[in-house]
Amino acid sequence: EVLEKVGLLLHIGVMLVFLVIVVNSKHLHIFTAPLNVMFSRRPDGLGAVPEMRSNGKVLDFEEADPDTDVFGRGKIEDTTWKGFLDFYTCTECGRCQSQCPAWNTDKPLSPKMLILDQRDHAFAIAPYLLASEEERANLPEDVLALAGKPLVGEEGVIHPDVLWSCTNCGACVEQCPVDIEHIDHIIDMRRYQVMIESNFPSEAGVMLKNLENKGNPWGVSESKRAEWIEELASRPVDPIEVLVIDEKVPDDLEYLFWVGCAGALEDRAKKTTKAVAELLHIAGVKFGVLGPMEACTGDPARRLGMEFLFNMLAQQNIETLNEAGVKKIVATCPHCFNTLANEYPQLGGMFEVVHHTQLLA
Ligand code: SF4
Ligand code: SF4
Repeated sequence: EVLEKVGLLLHIGVMLVFLVIVVNSKHLHIFTAPLNVMFSRRPDGLGAVPEMRSNGKVLDFEEADPDTDVFGRGKIEDTTWKGFLDFYTCTECGRCQSQCPAWNTDKPLSPKMLILDQRDHAFAIAPYLLASEEERANLPEDVLALAGKPLVGEEGVIHPDVLWSCTNCGACVEQCPVDIEHIDHIIDMRRYQVMIESNFPSEAGVMLKNLENKGNPWGVSESKRAEWIEELASRPVDPIEVLVIDEKVPDDLEYLFWVGCAGALEDRAKKTTKAVAELLHIAGVKFGVLGPMEACTGDPARRLGMEFLFNMLAQQNIETLNEAGVKKIVATCPHCFNTLANEYPQLGGMFEVVHHTQLLA
């Protein structure tokens, strides 16, 4: 009987201690992981980037007010509730880090630490986050000092080199056993840095300017997009004529071949474009291209956080495609494929998009 009582009391004691440890350690994930998995994006967080939201609704750039609307994440308070749930759910297993190409090539980014650093900061300033405006003035100075720490910055919670090392490959999201969506965190912080702080690597600035002025990352003239078509038509052996759509697609056209900036302008990628056009031709697929009317899908701008420019390019392309009467698109570039198939529907661009490998198979 004595042994039984001791055992029982120990059992209760261990459980009570564990309850305290749970809420103050990574073991919190025992409770939050099922919720995080349940509320993760479907089909998964790898396809489309989430739309920009402010005050509970999708941000409309034409009506946005810089005084009241939130543009991305500039402070930890701007994190979405799913973002906070991500923080509490990390099991610290390190799978994301071990698969991250940035981490594996000695860049300062660890997706695991990206989540944990934000979590630790959120816990450290919890009294500030939970206090009302009046109560905040009476908080201890160390809490107020921490609350004033920038989210991104040399002295901030996340170093800018960490933020700009991410390639958006999605390996971390794919690997995470509890569906933490690192890319959503990174994109949200980039949006604030780019659109509000104008704080981004100088190389990105040149690229964004080229996208805005010329519709491609290198800033070359639109007419250059037709060069591969001329090369294919003028080659001495088996010349191929590719239809360039100028206004409406012909009735018997099956697919619009979306070539992409690299596919049209970059020498190595042009070889792939010509090979795909030739294979489509041999397979008897009726296809055409937009030629100089095609512009960048906006993917590089979106991944950098320049949502405004993405919107501009995407709307311009959707208008061109709709006016031409395009219904089905075949794409070679994985970036274009993802943007056209998964992100354009957010702006009303509904097309049936296939990758060239699917179509040829
Ligand atoms: S998406 Fe970014 S953080 Fe995640 S694995 Fe790829 S490079 Fe690393
Ligand atoms: S894979 Fe997920 S749970 Fe594991 S350390 Fe990375 S973010 Fe945390």
